[in-house]
Amino acid sequence: MLIDMNLTIAYKCSSCGSFEFFSISIFKLLQKKEHLFVCRCNNSSIRIIREDLKHYTLKMPCIGCGNEHAFVLGRREMFHRHINSFCCSETGVQQCFLGNDEEVRKKVDNVEKELDELINMFGYDSYFKNTQVMFDTLNRIHDIAEQGNLSCECGNNDIELIMLSDKIHLKCSRCSGTKVISAASNEDLKNINLKKQILLMESTPKSFIFEK
Ligand SMILES: [Zn+2]
Ligand SMILES: [Zn+2]
Ligand SMILES: [Zn+2]
Repeated sequence: MLIDMNLTIAYKCSSCGSFEFFSISIFKLLQKKEHLFVCRCNNSSIRIIREDLKHYTLKMPCIGCGNEHAFVLGRREMFHRHINSFCCSETGVQQCFLGNDEEVRKKVDNVEKELDELINMFGYDSYFKNTQVMFDTLNRIHDIAEQGNLSCECGNNDIELIMLSDKIHLKCSRCSGTKVISAASNEDLKNINLKKQILLMESTPKSFIFEK
């Protein structure tokens, strides 16, 4: 009998937004106290820390809420052949899967298919808290950017934009600068319409993942 001793981890990168897959053998995982897996975009990573003989902690920055999440996993679940799923407790974004390679990849396919179907079937309407506010906010941000008034405090003005159901995340492509623009209500829309400039700030050390 051939026993597969590898674990696959799928992680939805908090920076580039795509799923990145990592593979590690169970033996390797047992050898070291901490393992770091960096996304191919080099901007974000996931850590697996062996707390004691029975527990592991998975730490990762979250694309949904912008915070770092820590999930504790027993050794039994870790090495079980089934799939472990981890979601953001705030936004419900499915951000990490761990388990057998085939199952993990299938799971990611399904997640991506679901999202596509949602977009195709209902448009964006079903996703946003207030679609009109979301699109108006987006337009407003584009206007501000066009006037050259959207930038990061590091001087970069190449800003990435991620739309969530009730807010827009702005991220600097060069540093850890971020800014969250609420886009759930007309009150939010009013606030963004009053803004003439958006400046991203370097995030606090709490969510700065490469620091210990
Ligand atoms: Zn990435
Ligand atoms: Zn989260
Ligand atoms: Zn920056």
